[in-house]
Amino acid sequence: MNEKPVIEPVAGPLDLGEGPHWDEKSQSLYLVDISAKQILNFNPHTKVLKRAQLDKKVGFVVPVKGKSDEFVTGLGTDLAIIKWNGENSAIEEVDLRWKTNEEQRNRINDGKCDPSGRLYAGTMCEEKVDNFWLQEKCNFYSIDKSGLKTKLSKVSLSNGLAWSLDSKKFYYIDSCIYNVRAFDYDITTGNIANGQVIFDLKENNLPGLPDGMTIDKDGNLWVAVYNGARVIKVDPRSGKLLFTVELPALQTTSVAFGGKNYDELYVTSANVPVPPEEEETKNKYTHNGYLFKVTGLGVKGLPPVDFAL
Ligand code: CA
Repeated sequence: MNEKPVIEPVAGPLDLGEGPHWDEKSQSLYLVDISAKQILNFNPHTKVLKRAQLDKKVGFVVPVKGKSDEFVTGLGTDLAIIKWNGENSAIEEVDLRWKTNEEQRNRINDGKCDPSGRLYAGTMCEEKVDNFWLQEKCNFYSIDKSGLKTKLSKVSLSNGLAWSLDSKKFYYIDSCIYNVRAFDYDITTGNIANGQVIFDLKENNLPGLPDGMTIDKDGNLWVAVYNGARVIKVDPRSGKLLFTVELPALQTTSVAFGGKNYDELYVTSANVPVPPEEEETKNKYTHNGYLFKVTGLGVKGLPPVDFAL
């Protein structure tokens, strides 16, 4: 059952807050500010936000399993292992280990590991025509011990990822087609196949685009809706919208459960400029670009998966 949620802006504003990932070791949250080219660490106990600067747009940050200061990240069109102690404003080392053949107008966007620690990440095109992203110019990749592989092509804007509790389904968002799809998933080979739409935002009369997502212990999805000022809870088995969390930020971007008991939902948002005709709508929201902590949802998430290199 859903209680009335408590929504607390805990840090910000960021330019384009994204990619929240709870770190069990340090009991803190890693995230990125894509347009500021920074990775960040937020400690909910001290409320301190640390930032480290990179020289390219950074799509996501996921810790490397068993290491306290190594992360896999999307940097521009490539994937890199970086060293950061979570404290300093400088990154100690950047190893651009996996290079894609993406066009330079593209960049790596959201990324996450499957339950075995295999990484998945996709790209987006930064070029727009008529204020909408170019279509089908991007790809979706995996990285494991055997290296970088292309898993899907003709993607438009690769975003949220999640796996079902039994690892047999992979849930995926290409924001430009306004839906969430479920693919059959083989955790041994990493193969994804047979994508089916399980939730369509337009059919549910929802504004905005689906962005980042996570799954809870009941197997329900939590999806951030960009330009929708909300996070929605969706049952991927029935395709039903179960609950909505409204946030005081228009451009809600991603979600991750965290906290000692995984009962805190961290929500990132952006403060990206909008066309003049949309400014009035955006300015109605008091906390554009903030990181939020949402409690009282009556659900728990799962520990995040680090990158098994
Ligand atoms: Ca995103």
